[in-house]
Amino acid sequence: MSAARITAERVRIDRGPRSGQTIIVSADSTRLGPALGGCRIKSYPSWREGLDDVLRLSAAMTEKAALAGLDHGGGKTVVALDDTSSADWTGPRRADLLDDIADVVETFDGTYITGPDIGTSPQDMARLHSRTRHVLCRPEAEGGSGDSSVPTALGVTASLEAVCAHRWPGTDLSTLSFSVIGLGHVGAVVGDWLAARGAALTVADIDPGRRDLAERWGARWVTPDQALRAEVDVVVPCAVGGILTPASVGGLHCHAVAGAANNQLDHDSTAALLHDRGVLWAPDVIVSGGGIIASVSRELHGLTAAEAQERVRGIGPRLTSVLADAERRGITPLQAARDLVDARLEGRVNGTPAA
Ligand code: NAD
Repeated sequence: MSAARITAERVRIDRGPRSGQTIIVSADSTRLGPALGGCRIKSYPSWREGLDDVLRLSAAMTEKAALAGLDHGGGKTVVALDDTSSADWTGPRRADLLDDIADVVETFDGTYITGPDIGTSPQDMARLHSRTRHVLCRPEAEGGSGDSSVPTALGVTASLEAVCAHRWPGTDLSTLSFSVIGLGHVGAVVGDWLAARGAALTVADIDPGRRDLAERWGARWVTPDQALRAEVDVVVPCAVGGILTPASVGGLHCHAVAGAANNQLDHDSTAALLHDRGVLWAPDVIVSGGGIIASVSRELHGLTAAEAQERVRGIGPRLTSVLADAERRGITPLQAARDLVDARLEGRVNGTPAA
């Protein structure tokens, strides 16, 4: 979902004294509680593009946290690496960069909590944790909740059940067909789950090495473009964002789209195009919330992994209520989700109890 509001409460831009890199942290909102959002390390043409990204991403995290039922706001860290440099950010240089990031996070004094994102890993979080405790998703062996992709996939499967029950009430998943785009950490688990339920599968990945999975599942292997246009009941985007555009929506042959990929719409107005074509779109900001729910539940609320999984399954009923609200009011699921965010931020709707 592209962000509607650029209203960050606090933004800080630092040049890391050890690494010389620009570190930008945005705490978009702390109205419901500390701001949550991962640390992205990525090359940008200049730090200004990194600033645009951090504002947009932290605002999207405010929506994600509110829709996940968490008493948290959204935040983000972007380290805007110089894209003309071929510097290798491993070894001691990485350690210096991570120490710089940790020191900036620490200045937020717990009003912002970071975690992994593009370009960072649970192991990196362990390094950050040596200088600031405001970090989620360290490796399990080091006391964190580890890689969030499995709970994210669980949230996707709960969402697929909700979408199918809403669109085809009483229909068994084994009679429906799905096209999964991207068979990485999340998509491979979702594909396994669908295959185990006997659903007809079409799959795609730009990495030909993932084709083995298609053979294991008895799935049809196609190009990513064919997967998006496939004549299936549900398209499940689990690769990159921005795939739903006016042009691509015109070429869809599915009845619903629901997947983990962040920011699937190129623009908010594309939600109306999907609606007009009768394609039910499950807002990715709800569908992909499993990772954040699990890490907060385990690390901040002290729940067991099994209890956290139960919370993640709550994505299903939450999505059902957003889809039902949209249908009742004749609005897009995007608008219904945005209205729910506003209701949470204004205190008209409570989150999930803390424990
Ligand atoms: P991943 O990097 O493990 O897997 C992505 C897969 O998509 C890879 O196999 C890659 O080869 C493939 N891919 C890349 N570009 C492609 C394209 N154009 N067409 C088809 N396949 C392509 O990532 P992941 O952790 O599985 O996450 C998948 C998506 O879900 C991403 O958009 C991510 O931002 C989002 N997401 C992930 C999490 C999480 O906890 N991992 C949480 C929230 C959202």
